[in-house]
Amino acid sequence: MNQALLEEQLGQLPLICYEFFPTEELVFSQRVRHVCQSDCPMYGKSWACPPGVGTVEQCRETCMSYDQCLMIATVAQVPDITNLEQCLSTRHDHEQITNQVGSLMRQQGVEPYILSTEACAICQRCAILDGQPCRFPERMHPCIESQGIVLTQTAEKFGVAFQYGGNVVTWFSLLLYRG
Ligand code: SF4
Repeated sequence: MNQALLEEQLGQLPLICYEFFPTEELVFSQRVRHVCQSDCPMYGKSWACPPGVGTVEQCRETCMSYDQCLMIATVAQVPDITNLEQCLSTRHDHEQITNQVGSLMRQQGVEPYILSTEACAICQRCAILDGQPCRFPERMHPCIESQGIVLTQTAEKFGVAFQYGGNVVTWFSLLLYRG
């Protein structure tokens, strides 16, 4: 992949930051899965979330089959960061930018495995609720946390901030690829 060209293109997108690093820098933990199971209302309700994504070990194996990773982040200002609805309303823009970055990589003949935010929202009702396979597996991006990834640790290592102000929502995506 021509990284210099991609970086030039990334510079034209409204990203707060991006970082390239080897996928082996990602940290996986069963604890993240435990949080999904005990605290997230989407557990079991989306193919983008556990347990539909597989075990943490299976997720790790899939991720590790791609040796390189591009982490991107966007931010959005909301009136009240404690208002979940306001925060989630900014997610769509991030997903669009993530897909744009995916397209830029495909233009270079690189097929990324994309992990993004929250549960998939492509269909109004996820097929998992009816015991059916995912309708759009090529468009659906599993949630980063669903893989058991502790993103804070990796972000800190590369000096990427998680918070950019009081009422600022930060969204992350990972685009894994074979370099
Ligand atoms: S594309 Fe549809 S069926 Fe697949 S994970 Fe997303 S919401 Fe569920």
